[in-house]
Amino acid sequence: MTTAQVPTIKLLIDGQFVESKTDQWREVINPATQEVLAKVPFATADEINAAVASAKKAFTTWRKTPIGARARIFLKYQQLIRENMQELAALLTAEQGKTLADAEGDVFRGLEVVEHAASIGNLQLGELANNVASGVDTYTLMQPIGVCAGITPFNFPAMIPLWMFPMAIVTGNTFVLKPSEQDPMVTMRLVELALEAGIPAGVLNVIHGGPDAVNGICDHKDIKAVSFVGSTHVGTHVYNRSSLAGKRVQCMMGAKNHGIVMPDANKEQTLNAIAGAAFGAAGQRCMALPVIVLVGEAQNWLPELVAKAKTLKVNAGCQAGTDVGPVISPQALARITGLIESGVSEGATIDLDGRNPTVPGFEQGNFVGPTIFSGVDTSMRIYQEEIFGPVLCVINADSIEQAIELVNANPNGNGTAIFTRSGATARRFQEEIDVGQVGINVPIPVPVPMFSFTGSRASKLGDLGPYGKQVVQFYTQTKTVTARWFDEDEEVGALNTTISLK
Ligand code: NAD
Repeated sequence: MTTAQVPTIKLLIDGQFVESKTDQWREVINPATQEVLAKVPFATADEINAAVASAKKAFTTWRKTPIGARARIFLKYQQLIRENMQELAALLTAEQGKTLADAEGDVFRGLEVVEHAASIGNLQLGELANNVASGVDTYTLMQPIGVCAGITPFNFPAMIPLWMFPMAIVTGNTFVLKPSEQDPMVTMRLVELALEAGIPAGVLNVIHGGPDAVNGICDHKDIKAVSFVGSTHVGTHVYNRSSLAGKRVQCMMGAKNHGIVMPDANKEQTLNAIAGAAFGAAGQRCMALPVIVLVGEAQNWLPELVAKAKTLKVNAGCQAGTDVGPVISPQALARITGLIESGVSEGATIDLDGRNPTVPGFEQGNFVGPTIFSGVDTSMRIYQEEIFGPVLCVINADSIEQAIELVNANPNGNGTAIFTRSGATARRFQEEIDVGQVGINVPIPVPVPMFSFTGSRASKLGDLGPYGKQVVQFYTQTKTVTARWFDEDEEVGALNTTISLK
């Protein structure tokens, strides 16, 4: 393909897919082959303003659209996503690198949020208390807040946009989405399907770009809420931006999740779960398990874990039988490789070295295979930093107390898991661990959409999570109405100068 033939990613403004007028573009690149798949624009300030203006205008009518009409769009949308699942997964694999099965999982976890959005009739209900005083009722309305925005990362280009715009829109808001500039193609296909499902012009808009686009969204006076998912340093920058002071902001950020392995755990199940959670999606999951803590006798299981990791097949995501695909970019690969080098030079034992794997037919791909370090100290960079690659750090502990202390001393709080057959140990862990999402023999405890994603501490800023009941609160303002009605022939009451209702 010549440069001229490379397709361009469009903006979505006021219901129209339009070519950006910018002179700044970047390439969307297949991480297994380096093939240029498309060019994505960095939207201009005028284009960002036009997207927000369109969303603002659309809000005046969309907010009044009956709840059933809104819900039916998402009923149709979930059907369209199902019908196009394979095409969506193939697009995702081409631009992001994960295996086709995992790409379907990425779309599916987003689809579940769309299904939940279709049940908004049961979610956006207010409360009513009858006769709070004589003839007085109090009730609440959950009203949409206006133009909301979403900023998404590269690692789940289907699921995370679907965490955001369906719940924002179904609650009566309008939306401006800024997808990851590294893999915006599957997101745009999902946006096309959303329009096909009946989302009206202006209710959903998409602009593309990098830091300037993010800052442009955050600083726009008409944006009422921002939902961000991405790295900790960018999320912290968004959360603390002075233009967002007093607005709704939620930032779901980086992680360093620990799995605690007790010696009474089911060994086979546990080692399989750890290998999948540490190396699946090439370790590019915010809920991956990049650290395991082997307690007591479980320390003897390391050789079997290494043997399992060696069986994982590193290959392009589109190839049958692949377990570990490429990482997103040559820059990400260089960073991961650099961190592996630091682990070696800082004195950790490298039990499995996944650097420079041979992948016939995909020699240009950004591949790194499963890598395992034991003897890891918490002062090492491989422990301190989020590696976001298929690299597992193994730490030993003498007791559950020591393991809990270690996890609680880590600043991150996205997820953790314990592997045990003891109910008492699991319950103690669940009570004492200071992490927002806990798995008990479940390595990646991402909640399904009737719950909310509840990462905590340094992995999250803002009080309410994306999707689930919490996001209905995030995207609405509760208005409490206290009402008394009089018949025309009602007796004239006494003048009341107290604050109590009688
Ligand atoms: P990233 O922070 O680099 O990018 C996220 C978004 O921010 C993108 O849309 C990007 O364009 C924008 N951005 C990048 N640099 C910016 C800057 N300097 N100023 C303003 N905006 C900027 O994240 P990523 O590499 O795409 O995604 C991986 C990260 O996301 C990991 O840290 C991972 O743990 C995290 N993540 C967290 C969750 C969660 O729910 N907690 C889920 C998925 C990913």
